[in-house]
Amino acid sequence: MGLIVQKFGGTSVANSERIRTAAKRIVEAYEAGNQVIVVVSARGQTTDELIDLAHEITDKPSTREMDMLMSTGEQISVALVAMAIHALGYPAVSFTGGQVGIVTDSYHTKARIRNINAQRIRKELDNRTIVIVAGFQGIDANENITTLGRGGSDTTAVALAAIMKADRCDIFTDVEGIYTADPRKVPYARKLSTISYDEILELASLGAQVMHSRSIEFAKKYNVTLQVRSSFNDKEGTLICKEAKEMEDIVVSGVAVSKDDAKITIRAVPDVPGQAAKIFHEIAKRNINVDMIIQNASIEGRADVTYTVPRSDLREALNVAEKIKKDLGANEVIHDSKIAKLSVVGIGMRSHCGVAEKMFRVLADEKINIQMISTSEIKISCVIDEAHADRALRAVHTAFGLDKVEKEEVVKV
Ligand code: ADP
Ligand code: ASP
Ligand code: MG
Repeated sequence: MGLIVQKFGGTSVANSERIRTAAKRIVEAYEAGNQVIVVVSARGQTTDELIDLAHEITDKPSTREMDMLMSTGEQISVALVAMAIHALGYPAVSFTGGQVGIVTDSYHTKARIRNINAQRIRKELDNRTIVIVAGFQGIDANENITTLGRGGSDTTAVALAAIMKADRCDIFTDVEGIYTADPRKVPYARKLSTISYDEILELASLGAQVMHSRSIEFAKKYNVTLQVRSSFNDKEGTLICKEAKEMEDIVVSGVAVSKDDAKITIRAVPDVPGQAAKIFHEIAKRNINVDMIIQNASIEGRADVTYTVPRSDLREALNVAEKIKKDLGANEVIHDSKIAKLSVVGIGMRSHCGVAEKMFRVLADEKINIQMISTSEIKISCVIDEAHADRALRAVHTAFGLDKVEKEEVVKV
């Protein structure tokens, strides 16, 4: 007998028929003798609709109340999935994140799981009951409801799999696995049979929303065997696993584009020691993630500092930038939210050179200007104009030989 965690994303529980299909899959795993924990997302576009609803009331909703609101989407799903399992004649019980002791920090709308008290789940599993847990949510130390950031149900699932030492965690979604690029944007993207934790971690944090990046951090740390697969068929999905030596032969495994960032420039900052520390201390204090940073050469003792922040934090980040401008005696703050970050990822980059050069060449041939560049051991990212993002993605995908050869296999979306 094993312990299996199954996670169903929004599309996989979008309507009653799909909920029944999910219930059948859950029951199959249970019938095979396993203990089963199920994590469910909000149905279809529910979370987006809830966010729109809040913005009909105010353009600056409190993040605590946003969490209270958004968490309801998952609560509806878990109850319906439990009912669908009951209708098939099997025992199931649904829980909110708080009820199963998923405790997070207090950063509303982007909370991180601190610990999970698994007792209640364990007790139900031991009674041979299927446990259905609302994804994406937890409670903080003061019992305020928190959410884990968009796409956070994956993290709930993997964190539960880690803490419960599950034998497997299956992520059921609306594509057949992880592809060399988002198959909606690159129809000739290829499905990968395996991918390393590090590669999918980079891809996920660089815009491949197929997995929540925090979930991969958990999976890697606790060695969770993770598979991404379709909830609509039984085809094998993509196994996310530890890196094997031969994986390095493949230079680039995937490409991704993200339109989630905005760029801020503080102009003419006096170029003296300690300025960068002051700027980024002010930003970090507000828990705003800065990704790329560049400082241009100083002219007459002053330099421009440019950095990217999540678009969702732009308003707050601009307030901070204005404060910094005043404090440091800089000239002005400008911003651009119409940027995209295009990235190529592959552990093979560690042992092969020329990847950056090839990427820059492709963008040059496409007449696309590179605004910022950042690299790590296994990725290269370029900030470009958002208007060119999808064209650039396809060009880079082709240039790195990732296109599917048999065109008839093209994914229909
Ligand atoms: P769920 O609701 O099941 O969590 P998501 O919408 O969060 O589903 O994630 C699945 C989507 O991720 C796919 O429909 C696909 O468009 C997108 N996606 C982005 N990059 C990739 C990739 N490299 N491989 C597969 N899917 C990707
Ligand atoms: N429902 C949440 C969202 O739409 C969480 C998730 O789907 O994983 O972001
Ligand atoms: Mg998702």
